[in-house]
Amino acid sequence: MKAMVLQRLCSLEENTTPLTLTDLPEPVPGKNEILVKVSACGVCHTELDEIEGRTPPPHLPVVLGHQVIGRVQASGGGTGVFKIGDRVGIAWIYSACGDCKWCLAGEENLCPDFRATGRDADGGYAEYMTVPEGFAFRIPDVFSDSEAAPLLCAGAIGYRSLRLAEIDDGDSLGLTGFGASGHLVLKMVRHRYPNTRVYVFARSEKEREFAQELGAVWAGDTTDESPERLSSIIDTTPVWKPIVEAMRNLEPGGRLVVNAIRKEDIDKDYLLRLDYPEHLWLEKEIKSVANVARRDVSEFLELAAEMRLTPEVQEFRLEDANQALVELKTRKIRGAKVLRIE
Ligand SMILES: [Zn+2]
Ligand SMILES: [Zn+2]
Repeated sequence: MKAMVLQRLCSLEENTTPLTLTDLPEPVPGKNEILVKVSACGVCHTELDEIEGRTPPPHLPVVLGHQVIGRVQASGGGTGVFKIGDRVGIAWIYSACGDCKWCLAGEENLCPDFRATGRDADGGYAEYMTVPEGFAFRIPDVFSDSEAAPLLCAGAIGYRSLRLAEIDDGDSLGLTGFGASGHLVLKMVRHRYPNTRVYVFARSEKEREFAQELGAVWAGDTTDESPERLSSIIDTTPVWKPIVEAMRNLEPGGRLVVNAIRKEDIDKDYLLRLDYPEHLWLEKEIKSVANVARRDVSEFLELAAEMRLTPEVQEFRLEDANQALVELKTRKIRGAKVLRIE
């Protein structure tokens, strides 16, 4: 089968073709696994982190890709949820042990044996992949293959961060940082918690205007004080300053949810401005978001279908995966990038 394979880690600035088109043997599904014929695979920022070594794959070579749509082609036995020909999606969570305390509590994203698709196991930049059946998802009919692929990552993680924010309808919610995942969260809140007032903190005037168009009641700079204290704030920035500034805007008992796989070190000294009485006292808390559990993916897909949340998509051939990655890196962003695999 055709696959775009990562052989060694590198910087995309120095090497604009990190992946090599390779003819690999078709994978064979083990017990409880299905073989999926891939039709579409989203291209994610996390792939850049893998290639450049910020979240390195433990074994090379590896096939990247964790927003996979395809059809069940075969089973390794012991499966029964999906039939041959069924359309399925595969997300960042590839497998977990199934019997640790986190798995038993439905928090398998925290399992010590958590394995990620396209990093710890071969992913969807290929014609075929295998996955444990219990980690494949049904895709609502309203989405085409290309539309469904990008929902499997940013959307599902945005959904988890909103779940961890633990707001009720009518509570006030802040969003600091307003990129792709911020937009999605704002749209979800408007749909699910219509009486919740959303406050957006963003550096760019354009993003602030856009936030208000999408229904934010207020938009200000990262360092501005919000007109009311907030029940929860979700941070989607890559740095530290917004965290310290956000803590000031929380109400007593409020929670800051940090939705980032890694933070950059460039402004880490800003943390020294953290003032205990002003920023933390009165039982304010900080919680990070790690990966996604299966219920985040399946609940989010249902919600997205209900809301008709259709992402704008830019398609590439599998062979052009390097071009898609370079464009993502250089921020030539026009919709979510998706590889089409014939
Ligand atoms: Zn991703
Ligand atoms: Zn486990």
